[in-house]
Amino acid sequence: MNGKQHSLVGLGAGLTAGLLAGAGPVGLAVWAGVAGITSAGPTSPDMDQDHRWRRADTVLPDEALGHGGPMKHRGLTHWFGLPLAAAGLVYLNDIVLLVNGRPLPVEWVLWAAIVGWSSHIVADAAFGKGGVPLLGWYGNVGLELSQDGILARAVAGAAPVAACLLWAATAGLDLGWLYDSATTVAGR
Ligand SMILES: [Zn+2]
Repeated sequence: MNGKQHSLVGLGAGLTAGLLAGAGPVGLAVWAGVAGITSAGPTSPDMDQDHRWRRADTVLPDEALGHGGPMKHRGLTHWFGLPLAAAGLVYLNDIVLLVNGRPLPVEWVLWAAIVGWSSHIVADAAFGKGGVPLLGWYGNVGLELSQDGILARAVAGAAPVAACLLWAATAGLDLGWLYDSATTVAGR
């Protein structure tokens, strides 16, 4: 998938996760936005798109660690263990550091970031050459479906649409909040 397609998948995943978490309209926008950011480009598992990463990779002898090293393309950043570990930490934080018996206020933003990042890894496991690593940066596996084929485009296009349909379904097509916020803004 190209960057734009990864963004669309991340957007759809973030929106869906936000809906499942019961977020309101503003929250949903943040869920989708943050997941969109961590699903594509240098702020995603494709961190090696940043020239600083590539420069560091040429200097650092990470290849000595075998299998092209953790910094290779589709290396450590594409391992599902990372978002899983992050989710574990946030969850642990949930249990240990409750504020007034509730999770930290910004915690769901971290979940949105994890969802976006994970969506990229799932997409790369299906599309494009190289798959994703099974352990760290070892043992890449993937379906290796065509990077820019019709299926990649269909999935990328369908992800946000499916999320919006879910939104409409869960909202029971009740757009009262939109009316309310519009009249509030107009009344000011
Ligand atoms: Zn990637």
